[in-house]
Amino acid sequence: MNDRKVSTIELKKMNRSKIFRYLYKREPQSKQDIAYALRMSFPTVAQNIKELQEQGLIVDAGMFESTGGRKAQAIVYNAEARYAVGLDVTRNHIGGVVIDLGCNIKTNLRIKCPFENTPVYFKKVAEFTNDMISGLQIEKEKILGVGISVPAIVSEDRSEMTYSPLLGMRKGNLESFKQYLDFPCVLNNDANAAGFAEIWNKKESVDMVYLSLNNSVGGCIILNNTVNFGKNQRGGEFGHITIVPNGKTCYCGQRGCMDVYCNAKILSNATNGNLERFFYEIRNGSERHLKIWKTYLNHLAVGVNDLRMAFDCDIVIGGYVGAQMGAEEIRQLRGLVAERNTFEFDGSYVKGCSYKSEATAVGGALYYVDQFLNSI
Ligand SMILES: [Zn+2]
Repeated sequence: MNDRKVSTIELKKMNRSKIFRYLYKREPQSKQDIAYALRMSFPTVAQNIKELQEQGLIVDAGMFESTGGRKAQAIVYNAEARYAVGLDVTRNHIGGVVIDLGCNIKTNLRIKCPFENTPVYFKKVAEFTNDMISGLQIEKEKILGVGISVPAIVSEDRSEMTYSPLLGMRKGNLESFKQYLDFPCVLNNDANAAGFAEIWNKKESVDMVYLSLNNSVGGCIILNNTVNFGKNQRGGEFGHITIVPNGKTCYCGQRGCMDVYCNAKILSNATNGNLERFFYEIRNGSERHLKIWKTYLNHLAVGVNDLRMAFDCDIVIGGYVGAQMGAEEIRQLRGLVAERNTFEFDGSYVKGCSYKSEATAVGGALYYVDQFLNSI
């Protein structure tokens, strides 16, 4: 094969990919619109559309109203051409979603099932996955894979948990899950997955820090729409930023970590594990709960201000606590961070999260959607 031939094939693939990406998440378009928008010739567009249609990746969506002359065919990408599964594995629960290419959640499920490093547990995870899929009646071939999000540091190749005390073990690997799952699968760090889900629907280029306030604290650094994992895959481990020198002992062994002061259990422990109830109490003026909230928020403000100073971008408050915080609680946090800020008088860079639940599972599934879109 000579060089020229290779480049022609590559060019063809690039054109096809450009057309699909143009159609992705857009309203139906005509071939003329696509040719015009992408500065391609009409025959090039028509040929690629034909190929994408043969692959089932785009479909007809009726006719456009004519403004005189022939009516044009409307074309739309096929969100249901493929699906991906995302799992959110935590110490006590397994959560999961099945999404289509358009990141629409087709089904979701969550069960109480404490993590155990045993074959029985991993079989249960596989059963859980199969239960979700079987309810949907989709062909198995259309499932791209299972992205498994875990509260752990995950190796660059996504095959190992290199630090996972939150699951009650030092290390773990994908193989344990994989042997019972009949699909390709990878591991994801939970907070990085959630951050990835948060930016997926953004049209413009985004720099964003996602702070995940779950039963442990984590985060995700997104620069120019790309998750920054760092040199050792520990980028965004904000839970272990020191916010109180020589403070309370963290599960990691260090003292004064943000995790100790800002994990969701600090709040939910005051309401029998029910975080929603905690927010109900503070909104109804319960003195006891307001006192806990005030202390929590003050610690959170220290951490958030540190992140603003380091990254100078929007800070999205996510995780269980972020999902419960309404406009009033965000306003309170903005006030506190503004007081600490050297350069700014308001805290409008603090944003609520768009996913109220399932961000971690969705982010896991999006790994495969992203891969697939890049492969077209
Ligand atoms: Zn720590």
